[in-house]
Amino acid sequence: MLGGIEAGGTKFVCAVGDENGAIIDQIRIPTTLPEETIQKVIEFFKQYDIKALGIGSFGPIDINPESPTYGNITSTPKPGWRDFPFVSSLKEAFSFPIGFHTDVNVAALGEATLGAAKGLDSCLYITVGTGIGAGAIIQGKLLQGLSHPEMGHILVRRHPNDPYQGKCPFHHDCLEGLASGPAIEDRWGEKGENLVNREEIWDLEGYYIAQALMQYILILSPKKIILGGGVPHQQEVFSSIYKYLNELMKQYVSLPELSEYIVSPGLGDAAGITGALILANRTLKEYKSKTL
Ligand code: ADP
Ligand code: ZN
Repeated sequence: MLGGIEAGGTKFVCAVGDENGAIIDQIRIPTTLPEETIQKVIEFFKQYDIKALGIGSFGPIDINPESPTYGNITSTPKPGWRDFPFVSSLKEAFSFPIGFHTDVNVAALGEATLGAAKGLDSCLYITVGTGIGAGAIIQGKLLQGLSHPEMGHILVRRHPNDPYQGKCPFHHDCLEGLASGPAIEDRWGEKGENLVNREEIWDLEGYYIAQALMQYILILSPKKIILGGGVPHQQEVFSSIYKYLNELMKQYVSLPELSEYIVSPGLGDAAGITGALILANRTLKEYKSKTL
């Protein structure tokens, strides 16, 4: 049996399941202070005979195995979580191998294995919700370099009629600052879910996301793009993205039919937790090959 954690800023989803990503049991734990949250995580997994654990975590996080602070949450503004040693606090309680990556990279892994990009060795997963982030599987591997990518904070061209100053505490008007759920709420004075049938709002949203997708496509050339998170529940966002992406690309790169190329998650809300189980399986295989 394998374990998975989808660690978010508001809740942790913990699951046990098999190597095919099938979930046997799961719980949701509110993200309070780290010690309290982790205690509940440990109690849940103690009930099972787990062989490996996969974690997809909110960030930023340290995923460099050579680093002395590997497995820590790093510069988050979330109270209590800054520099929290996530992986080592679990290693104190368990001896099985643990895989640790960003929530979005792990969701991309879930989608590439069992979801909308099933069978492909490359895909990009972008979430547009409380924050904006993207992860990718490239040539079958989780995208990682110096650290993990932070694709939500790229710079985009402003819409000439958009005077909104932006909500990112670091860069103000980066993509996340202009197009995240909280930015929508701040700009329009109402939560995104309550702004149905407001065409101008979702058109503007697509205007910004399309620019980001163009850059991701030009740099990473993913075979499929999966757009998750709360905001794209407004279906008009997809049509706006298709319109602006076509305008921007000018057919420079030949792409599949956009409605089949940029899609909702095939696994729905379970992309992250399913990916965490797949990561656990990968981690177990690597561990076995090293210890043979
Ligand atoms: P989280 O980012 O916390 O995992 P979500 O992806 O649901 O969760 O993102 C929450 C953000 O998305 C909030 O700012 C919320 O207002 C916005 N949101 C959620 N559902 C919708 C919707 N149907 N339409 C537009 N915005 C939404
Ligand atoms: Zn930013």
